[in-house]
Amino acid sequence: MSKNDKGLNRRELLGLSAAAGAGALLTGVGRADAAGAPQVPRRPLGKTGKKIPILLFGGAVRLDSTFDHKLAEAVRYGVNYFDAARRYGGGRCEANIAAYLKRAKNRNRIWITSKSPYHEPAGFERALHTTLSQLHTSYVDMYFLHALHDKSYLSSNMAKMAYKLKRAGKMRHVGFSCHHGNVVDMLNEAAKHSWIDAVMFRYNFRNYGDKALNKAMDACHKRGIGLIAMKTQSSSVSFAGRVNKFKQTGKWTKHQAVLKAVWADPRLSASVSAMSTIGQVRQNIAAALNRSKLSAAETTELQRYAAATRHTACDGCDHICNPRVNAPVQIGDTLRLLMYHDSYGEPAKARALFNELPAAGRNFAGVDFSGASAACPHGVDVGALMKRAGEVLT
Ligand code: SF4
Repeated sequence: MSKNDKGLNRRELLGLSAAAGAGALLTGVGRADAAGAPQVPRRPLGKTGKKIPILLFGGAVRLDSTFDHKLAEAVRYGVNYFDAARRYGGGRCEANIAAYLKRAKNRNRIWITSKSPYHEPAGFERALHTTLSQLHTSYVDMYFLHALHDKSYLSSNMAKMAYKLKRAGKMRHVGFSCHHGNVVDMLNEAAKHSWIDAVMFRYNFRNYGDKALNKAMDACHKRGIGLIAMKTQSSSVSFAGRVNKFKQTGKWTKHQAVLKAVWADPRLSASVSAMSTIGQVRQNIAAALNRSKLSAAETTELQRYAAATRHTACDGCDHICNPRVNAPVQIGDTLRLLMYHDSYGEPAKARALFNELPAAGRNFAGVDFSGASAACPHGVDVGALMKRAGEVLT
């Protein structure tokens, strides 16, 4: 089996894992497809009756406009769920996925979720039509309200629109994504609406002890709402010398360990990962294929890392810290974009999104953030991070 036409065989995957520092033993890997490639395990997505791979391809990366080999490599191992959005990839994400589908001729084997930047019913419908035309497809498997943080948009009118679009065959399932500081509120609200099929939300290894979040996840899980984790790496903003590095435990890199930790929660159907290189695709696939759990020592190492870097990870709860600053700043959004820049290796995306913030929110040179730092329950040094954001995002 050659790598070029058949993908990685079992021995190559083992070598890949070792090269990646994973040293993964491919015991109990998912079933192989017809071509012999092992397949990433799948889990049910809530009440949809569908199963999706535990690893999803996040489209917030640069995709080839003719044929993206990262997508092809992912699909080869059963990662056939693409998480798109109108705005990803500088607005090219959906069109680039369409280019892949055209050449791969496998639309019926791919699950596509995309997202509307508009949250009211008419805008949502318009956005879906644009998405379908960008993707050159007649339906999407799921359509999300993108980055929703105002629960009033989960209205009866939106429910009616969702039913209408489903009946018309333009989308099969519906839900929303959320990553602001009110994720718990949004999950609790979702659990009240039977028309919502899935929620994609900010979740990572730092959240384990969060009782309110766990309760909200339970509520959704019981109502059959599929739960998808995003922003799983959480990020430590890269303050070299101030952040303890995660020690590789002999088996997993930090990136892989964090994914394994998320998959350990059976309420979560999957984790979405923006994979910008073939190497990242293969590393994540190796972690997904290996069904061994994190050992107690590895879990402890992850917890130690979480504790040592807590002051560098912003949860987006800026209703706490924004009011402590005498300027119209958007600390949560700004530090999320700094995370894209520093931890996700997406400087262009980070700068582009930063430019979309209101001008007043971007102008924070000379602003005193000491009150925000004092108010932050996680000890984030807001002033230092905002200073860095000003340097790298503007
Ligand atoms: S700096 Fe602290 S309080 Fe402000 S949004 Fe981030 S985590 Fe929340």
